Formats: sequence, structure tokens, C-alpha cells
Amino acid sequence: MAVTIHNIPEGLAVGVAYGSAFLIGGESFFSALMIAIGIGVQNFPEGLALALPLKETLKSKKKAFFLTVLSAAVEPVMVIVGIFLSTSITGIMPWLLSFSAGCMLYVVCEELLPDSQISSKHHIGTWGFIIGFVIMMILDVALG
Ligand SMILES: [Zn+2]
Repeated sequence: MAVTIHNIPEGLAVGVAYGSAFLIGGESFFSALMIAIGIGVQNFPEGLALALPLKETLKSKKKAFFLTVLSAAVEPVMVIVGIFLSTSITGIMPWLLSFSAGCMLYVVCEELLPDSQISSKHHIGTWGFIIGFVIMMILDVALG
């Protein structure tokens, strides 16, 4: 649920960026594309973070795949909503994206890290979190 909820502001961000580029002229098409690519790229590990534990829990690849796709299905819908709301919600997008990041951190801290400690004696989940956080900060600084 947290991953699904956090996909809502992500979709809105892409929609607002494209709406702003095409309707208002506030963003360039290139920066809207960069936001879409950035959110699309981070969806890969996000999908894995959801699908792999679901597969272990449900003991079914098909159910895990279906639920993972279902959790992501809100994102393209919210892109369309974001395009239409781009003139009115641009100001609250930083708050929505902060909420989105908080949802994902909740999932990582509350669910994924504790589960990774049960099956691994090598703290690889903790190191993955630290390395991922450092990469995120480097990209944040490098891409502005
Ligand atoms: Zn995300």
C-alpha cells in the first residue's frame, strides 16, 4: 500500500512537468523528459523491492507480478491527472514528492531492512540501503 500510495505523487510530478511544458510553458520539454526518465529509472528497483518479497510471501510469481503491476498502475493514471492539474498544483509538488519519498523510506525501514536481516548474516541489505542513499545524493547534487 505504501508503495502504491507513493506512486501517486510520482505520477503527478511527471504529469505536472509535461503539463507545465505544454500548457503553461514553465518547464521545458527536456526537463519534463528528465523527470519522467528519473522517475522511470527509480521504478525498476522499486518494482523489485515489491515483487521479490511478494514472491517469497505468496509463493507465486504470477501473483507477485500482478500485484506489482497493479501497484504501479496508479502512476500513468496520475500522469494524466497531473497534466490537467498542472496549472493549480505546481506549488504543492515539493510537498507531495516529499510525502512520496517518506512512503518509500517507510517501506525500506519498516519492511525491507528487517526482512533482509532475517535471511542474511552479511548485512547486505543495510549496505545496499547506504549505497543507494549515497547514489541518490550524488545524483541529486549532480543533476540539480
Ligand atoms: Zn518511487
